[in-house]
Amino acid sequence: MAENKNTQLMEKIVSLAKRRGFIFQSSEIYGGINGFWDYGPYGARMKRAVEQLWWREMVETRDNVEGLDSTIICHPKVWKASGHLDQFSDEMCDCRECKARHRVDQMENPEVCPNCGSKDLTEPREFNLMMKTFVGPVFDEDHAAYLRAETCQPIFVDFHNVRVAARQKLPFGIAQIGKAFRNEINPRNFTFRSREFTQMEMEFFCDEAEGMEWYEYWKGQRIKYYREKLGFTDDFMKIHDHEKLAHYAKAALDIEVKFPFGWGELEGVHHRGTWDMSRHQEFSGQDMQYMDHDNKRKVMPTVIETSVGLDRTILALLCNAYDEDTAETQKEGKATDVRTVLRFPALVAPVQIAVLPLSKKLSESAKELYNDLNRHFRSEFDVTGSIGKRYRRQDEIGTPFCITYDFESAEDNSVTVRHRDSMQQERVNVTQLRSYIEERIGY
Ligand code: ATP
Repeated sequence: MAENKNTQLMEKIVSLAKRRGFIFQSSEIYGGINGFWDYGPYGARMKRAVEQLWWREMVETRDNVEGLDSTIICHPKVWKASGHLDQFSDEMCDCRECKARHRVDQMENPEVCPNCGSKDLTEPREFNLMMKTFVGPVFDEDHAAYLRAETCQPIFVDFHNVRVAARQKLPFGIAQIGKAFRNEINPRNFTFRSREFTQMEMEFFCDEAEGMEWYEYWKGQRIKYYREKLGFTDDFMKIHDHEKLAHYAKAALDIEVKFPFGWGELEGVHHRGTWDMSRHQEFSGQDMQYMDHDNKRKVMPTVIETSVGLDRTILALLCNAYDEDTAETQKEGKATDVRTVLRFPALVAPVQIAVLPLSKKLSESAKELYNDLNRHFRSEFDVTGSIGKRYRRQDEIGTPFCITYDFESAEDNSVTVRHRDSMQQERVNVTQLRSYIEERIGY
């Protein structure tokens, strides 16, 4: 029963995301391509907003974190050093009956095809997840290259360039936002597991002795960000400490959220020890150590990583925000009407303010107000349909504030602000409007 309800909820979210222009299947007119997604007008706005928020929180407000924007294709040795070329693989098997391909670790019973029930399966084989391409006109192994599978490796590789250019000393971090590619065997759960996605990663370099202290610090910072900026409460988000660690790791945890299809990883916080920098030293032959002039010694930097998917963040926000209410709707008239509402935090809502003139006759003055507000907030102007319909349209895309410009507005220089969640209305003077909204968005 509950599973059914959750499947239905997920279907509603996917359908709303398509209908209202958040997320569509890539190349839809050609039948789509599995594991690839496009962001429509509201999705693109929201992605930008979350990206900017993360960048502001992790880079711009900190003196000890620098930004980087590296290439997607790196020297293939980078992926040798990182272990991706040799180890970044899943065991998989094919069903000879229905031709479906499965990840062995995800099969409940690895002897039976979960798709058709056949027992005629191939032996499990290693499948490398790196996407391969060729650089230059010759398509042979000497010219093979790979699309990055994570954004952090170029950060390790560029460590000295960034450090010298930014005149940073240990401890300090480098952050990057960008595309990553994984040839996932089984893309599923909407955008949760895609083949092309965006990561937001920060690698913090410190002395080995301070590693655990920084790990705890970044864990705290990231939890605070989800609680305070994205509005995730403890029933939606949990911490999963890893018991089984990679051989080089000192500590690791996942921040998981409750998707309709179950708990899923949103972000990883990892204490990676000196593994990454030592590997790049070994494979490049360059000295990746840091010269600690104060104590006259060289140290191999220890790395604390925070790594989150932007697409999974958008999906988490959509799932956490989706709601349907009937009781509240009665306040605005129709008792039987079910209101679909996305309760996004105002900080990341694709539209923060909708300016709605009560009548077409008021369009000109209302448009002036809209132009003014649009310089400070993500805004939209809508004049078509009844005011009730326009409110519903905005509720459905999660607009926290609707501003109605009515016949009195020109006289008293005031407008009505209607709040998405409570549906309460307040009269606010136009001169106060900007600070009124800013205060409520929580900039
Ligand atoms: P999973 O176990 O779900 O495959 P992972 O542990 O391999 O994930 P990491 O390599 O730690 O993931 O990547 C960091 C973050 O990047 C993840 O927490 C997730 O938000 C995002 N991410 C990883 N793989 C994908 C994917 N295929 N599609 C969308 N986002 C992804």
